[in-house]
Amino acid sequence: MSFMTSILERSKIADIGEKVFANQRLSEAEALRLFDVRDLNALGYLANHVRERKNGNVATYVLNLYLNYSNVCILSCQFCAFARRPHEKEGQFTLAIDDMVRQCADAYARGATEVHIVGGLHPKLLFTYYTDLIRSLREACPDLTIKAFTAIEIRHLAERIAKKPLRETLEILRAAGLGSLTGGGAEIFDPEVRDKLCRGKESAEEWLEVHRTWHQMGERSTCTMLYGHVETLAQRVDHLRRLRELQDETRGFTALVPFAYEPDNNKLSHLGLGRASAFEDLRTLAIARLYLDNFDHITAYWVSLGLPTAQIALSYGVDDLHGTIQQERIFHMAGSKTPQGQQVAQLERAIREAGRVPVQRDTYYEPLRPSPTPDLTPLPDLPEQMKTLV
Ligand code: SF4
Repeated sequence: MSFMTSILERSKIADIGEKVFANQRLSEAEALRLFDVRDLNALGYLANHVRERKNGNVATYVLNLYLNYSNVCILSCQFCAFARRPHEKEGQFTLAIDDMVRQCADAYARGATEVHIVGGLHPKLLFTYYTDLIRSLREACPDLTIKAFTAIEIRHLAERIAKKPLRETLEILRAAGLGSLTGGGAEIFDPEVRDKLCRGKESAEEWLEVHRTWHQMGERSTCTMLYGHVETLAQRVDHLRRLRELQDETRGFTALVPFAYEPDNNKLSHLGLGRASAFEDLRTLAIARLYLDNFDHITAYWVSLGLPTAQIALSYGVDDLHGTIQQERIFHMAGSKTPQGQQVAQLERAIREAGRVPVQRDTYYEPLRPSPTPDLTPLPDLPEQMKTLV
């Protein structure tokens, strides 16, 4: 019996291991059983097997920047530290299109290939604000992919602002230059969790309908999962199940981007939930990799995880480290202590140090080119006494 087989047996997942090695789909019950495993290395071993089968030794990242056009929002999601209600003047912002175009053009000139744009559900901004923004960005930065809006923003634009059917709204935005939807706002799909977390936000079915419609137009998007708050592990698996079902139907998701609830400055802070541990992060990423057999990519969102844990996640099912980002606000207003951006050299160093090959990708997870950047800070040679141990 091999060393790993005995570890899988000790963790009581040898049968699941056999299915993974035979490339068979796991059930929800099996995904839930994986959450009982306390041997993280056993989970990582299996998830890494799938990750390498799908993506080899490559780990990708994108040169991107974040733009938040406004934090004015008519909703009050309990976990959100970013939004300000329309009457709450202190701390509100709404950016001018020209300023955002200038910021993007600067990043574009320095090599950015993607801008990621999300904001609150502003009650007064006209639909032309959004179409003008996208069109102006398209004109100023012709090859920059505009990845914008969560499903709830799209519904808000369609139902309250443009007052047009969902598909027509998406078509107008695409004609203006929208290249991809973002995956945000999915949280956890279970209605009881949504009632506690984000009452008034769209239902799971409504979130999925936006992405289904976009995929039916031949387009791609990412999806997310916000874990580590009031949900049960069964509700976490149920969330993954619904994503896997839509992926079976459309094949339109490029990747899952899971991230943990940030506990500060929001209406759930009094619950004292704390932030998920690194163990929780890694097992969730590994189980997502094992369960989502129809997803090509699992992204470690370093803004939430921190780059050190995201780097370790490259051995726990993850094959992508997201992007340079430059100025993240939403997690940082909720207390995230990670940096607000990363340099390419930092991402590449983290990837190389984990034994992977860094490759810059585009928004659709297609490789752009192998990294030309040399490893500027090679690891020191191992001391002689350690060499005998490896
Ligand atoms: S999470 Fe989004 S929809 Fe909810 S309050 Fe914050 S900005 Fe508004």
